[in-house]
Amino acid sequence: MIQAINEGVYTDISKEDIRAIREERLNKIIEQSTLSYRWNSIPYMETKVADYKTDNFVDGPGVRNVLYVTYCPFACEECYNESIQDYRNGFDYTDELQALIIADLGKAYIQGLSLLGGEPTLNAKTLLPLVEEVRQVYGETKDIWMWTGYLYETLNALPDTDERKQLLQAVDVVVDGQYIKEYRDEANPPVFRGSSNQRIIDVKQSVATNQVVELTEYYKP
Ligand code: SF4
Repeated sequence: MIQAINEGVYTDISKEDIRAIREERLNKIIEQSTLSYRWNSIPYMETKVADYKTDNFVDGPGVRNVLYVTYCPFACEECYNESIQDYRNGFDYTDELQALIIADLGKAYIQGLSLLGGEPTLNAKTLLPLVEEVRQVYGETKDIWMWTGYLYETLNALPDTDERKQLLQAVDVVVDGQYIKEYRDEANPPVFRGSSNQRIIDVKQSVATNQVVELTEYYKP
C-alpha cells in the first residue's frame, strides 16, 4: 500500500481515503507544531529519562550510545515508545548520568551519541548543556544524532535564543517529522526512520545553505 501511495498507483485503498489520511495527519502535525510555541505551558522543566543504552547498533550509524528522554505531545498512532509519551514516567536526569554519558563516549569504537524520545527538543534545557559538554570534550570527533517529531523548518523558525533551536543547530543530524504508520513499509523498513515521510537532515549543511539538506546515502528523497 505504501508503495502504491508513494507512486500514485492506488490499488486496495481509494484516493479519497488516502486524501483523508493525509489531511488528518497534516492537521495533526500543524496542530502539534503550533504547540511548539506554547513553550511555557509544556512540562519540560524536569527532564525524565526513560533509558540510557550503550553499544547500540540501531539508532544511527556505527556503534552508539543512546539517551531516551520522556514526554512527547504528538501521540502518533502505533508510536514505538508509547509508554514514555507521559512526562511523569522514567527517572530523573542527573549530573551523575551526564558524567557517565560523557565518559562512555570516550571509548574509541563509539561513533557518537543519539538523542531520542519522547521528544528531545522539549527537553532542550537539559540536552543542550549535554551536547555542549560533548563538544567541549570531544569536539567534532563524535557525531550527535537527534530524532524529533517537529519539522526542521518549525524548529529553525524559532528565535535564536530558544533552546529548541539551539539544540537543533548543535547536533550534526536530525531525523524529523512524526511517525506516520501509513508511510511505513514493513517489508522494506526505512533505515534510521520509522516512516518514509521522515527526513534525515545534515544540520550543518542546512544551516550553512539556509535550506534543508538531506543525507541521501540512506534513501532517495
Ligand atoms: S514523535 Fe516519536 S515518540 Fe512522539 S509520539 Fe510520535 S513516534 Fe512516539
